[in-house]
Amino acid sequence: MHHMTLAEIARGLADKKFSSEELTQVLLARIAQLDPQLNSFISLTEELALSQAKAADARRANGEAGALLGAPIAHKDLFCTQGIRTSCGSKMLDNFKAPYDATVVAKLAAAGTVTLGKTNMDEFAMGSANESSYYGAVKNPWNLEHVPGGSSGGSAAAVAARLLPAATATDTGGSIRQPAAFTNLTGLKPTYGRVSRWGMIAYASSLDQGGPLARTAEDCAILLQGMAGFDPNDSTSIDEPVPDYSASLNGSLQGLRIGVPKEYFSAGLDPRIAELVHNSVKELEKLGAVIKEISLPNMQHAIPAYYVIAPAEASSNLSRFDGVRFGHRCENPENLIDLYKRSRGEGFGAEVQRRIMVGAYALSAGYYDAYYLKAQKIRRLVKNDFMAAFNEVDIILGPTTPNPAWKLGAKNSDPVAEYLEDVYTITANLAGLPGLSMPAGFVDGLPVGVQLLAPYFQEGRLLNVAHQYQMNTDWHTRTPTGF
Ligand code: GLN
Repeated sequence: MHHMTLAEIARGLADKKFSSEELTQVLLARIAQLDPQLNSFISLTEELALSQAKAADARRANGEAGALLGAPIAHKDLFCTQGIRTSCGSKMLDNFKAPYDATVVAKLAAAGTVTLGKTNMDEFAMGSANESSYYGAVKNPWNLEHVPGGSSGGSAAAVAARLLPAATATDTGGSIRQPAAFTNLTGLKPTYGRVSRWGMIAYASSLDQGGPLARTAEDCAILLQGMAGFDPNDSTSIDEPVPDYSASLNGSLQGLRIGVPKEYFSAGLDPRIAELVHNSVKELEKLGAVIKEISLPNMQHAIPAYYVIAPAEASSNLSRFDGVRFGHRCENPENLIDLYKRSRGEGFGAEVQRRIMVGAYALSAGYYDAYYLKAQKIRRLVKNDFMAAFNEVDIILGPTTPNPAWKLGAKNSDPVAEYLEDVYTITANLAGLPGLSMPAGFVDGLPVGVQLLAPYFQEGRLLNVAHQYQMNTDWHTRTPTGF
């Protein structure tokens, strides 16, 4: 039962082959048995899951239908869940029970999903390896000595290990697409404003976006359908109608113009990944796509710009965790300053403290123009590059990451080495564009992802291309040994 995709589960439930309660029990038992190897969950919500499953079965018995009715999922532990710990992977929020549900959580619950638990993540979503969590590192089911990617590493490892069919995740600079690539999943970062950020604990507000992690494009379409839509509670949510994503999956790729940026194939890219990217291009050409070389000339400035803007926003967003308004409070403070210093010093881990310091520095009087303002100007140039490219092509294709998943601990002493791994993903966040990563092969037994980028609100086009690719390849069906 645990091998089923969301689409297969929906069919099985509709055909009364099993109930949501039965499926939920199977998956909870599987999590109890296998998750100790992976550490992909921070909290399990067995009681909630079983009551939601029973309610979904009752709704189906009453004649209701729906692709998500009775579907088991999990939420990355930065989506607020009412009455349930929402830790953001941090000691700071270890005992925080959210007083309300995030819009994404509420929408998916209304659609009938069953919440199995809250997944592990890098602390405050800062990282590309899921090693900065207060609850310990997550392991990659493809090789337990390697990282699963981050920051949504818990959601990715759990779905890849078939502990559940799909999970929510968020992407500020790649945290849906990069763990998808590292664990052989399909992950979609929607257009900025497509999915509500209300109740999603902020890292960098102008970059953060929630989206689905699943095994297939078809399942990403189903989960995104339940997540997307205008939310008056989020001032950056965009009031655009949500198309039927599943309906667009089967469109023909005849004549589709795919742009491949020449800057993507620089020295930093593992040549074995470059070869897999070229193979995926050939596959799409067979399906009727037309390939064109394009240029994104400002790409080389994106990492420094991102690693100014994201920490700047983080330093501001995280000021609320001070031991008074929110978060961990130290024991026996001597005075107010001592309370702030020790509460924040004890509550935040090293990477979060580093980002707060970088961000506060970049925003400080005298340095603002040199760093933050400059970074915002680069951001505009990055966006302009994409706008020019999308005048010529319908989709941009390239690697999701320059290397496959590295060994646990390999980059711990060198944060910049880890930042450089985000080179292909962060530009979509800077520009607010939708991006998808899909499985495209293996290097040394570790999965490799190909990234597709599309113009604003063209999530349907990304899902269409990925689905057609998946109908003609079998990379996405490979399962890690032991799971
Ligand atoms: N690796 C990037 C960072 O650490 C992106 C993380 C994310 O998308 N949440 O900022």
